[in-house]
Amino acid sequence: MNLLNPNTPLVEIFEDLFTKKQIRVFVKREDLTDQYISGNKWYKLKYNLIEAEKLGFRTLLTFGGAFSNHIHAAAAAGNKFGFKTIGVIRGEEHLPLNPTLSFAYENGMYLEYIDRTSYRKKYDQELIQKLKDKYGDFYLIPEGGSNHLAVKGCAEIISSINIKFDYICSACGTGGTLAGLILGLNKNAFALGFSVLKGGEFLNQNISSFLKYFDADDFKNWKINLDFHFGGYAKVTKELIEFCSSFSDQHNFIIEPIYTGKMFYGLFDLIKRDYFPTNSSIIAIHTGGLQGLEGLKFRKKI
Ligand SMILES: *Cc1c(COP(=O)(O)O)cnc(C)c1O
Repeated sequence: MNLLNPNTPLVEIFEDLFTKKQIRVFVKREDLTDQYISGNKWYKLKYNLIEAEKLGFRTLLTFGGAFSNHIHAAAAAGNKFGFKTIGVIRGEEHLPLNPTLSFAYENGMYLEYIDRTSYRKKYDQELIQKLKDKYGDFYLIPEGGSNHLAVKGCAEIISSINIKFDYICSACGTGGTLAGLILGLNKNAFALGFSVLKGGEFLNQNISSFLKYFDADDFKNWKINLDFHFGGYAKVTKELIEFCSSFSDQHNFIIEPIYTGKMFYGLFDLIKRDYFPTNSSIIAIHTGGLQGLEGLKFRKKI
């Protein structure tokens, strides 16, 4: 397998607010990993692809919502690296396919829809067996791509950063990415996650158990902020959308309101409220996910 070898830039961004508070903010542009296998989703897939190949699997099966960045990335990765892919999608089929699923379909992904109740029990042996009967054996990647191999991949984001810094920030959906960042930091800075969903307390549990897997459960240099979910997962407000578009105009790269927009909004707000000591250097991870903008347009949310 000829893996991606992203060499994404670290760019400083400037705002009067940062000058006033004597804070420096850098953005690690992981949205530039690949045109299709974007952002943290590449790092989460990387060691899963290696493992699947090592174990001799030619088929990957994974789970996600109908607008999922992970489904999009998994389909593209399957196409690029020669795996058959099956996407188990939460909810009913709607035609025409939305932009995410039509991309997945065009990349050869088989789409299997399951109702929301069954989706909650998606890892039950009964459903897995049914899927095996239908598609043959497969390498299973969990929803959002989050498992210990994903965490291992996300830790590599840290080793590609070549400046000293005090904080690193990321949007959190399952916590797999932040767990990887914490692991990669090895106590050398503080990791701050922004929950993009309401009721994000479970993220603490998820991250702790990933860290435990790597014998890193004594790491205390991290925290999840729960204040910037804007009503819940994929919920957006006019204020958030305006923030994202003025941010994108100002800094000449795009952020979206489902993940990175909520993180940057939260980061700016915390800087305003003097959460960070003066002279802090902060790195914000641009985790990609820009394909989600098409989905928001499709749903007429923007
Ligand atoms: C999936 C995703 C996240 C969340 O990653 P987790 O590892 O699930 O916490 C953050 N940002 C973007 C753009 C994503 O697509």
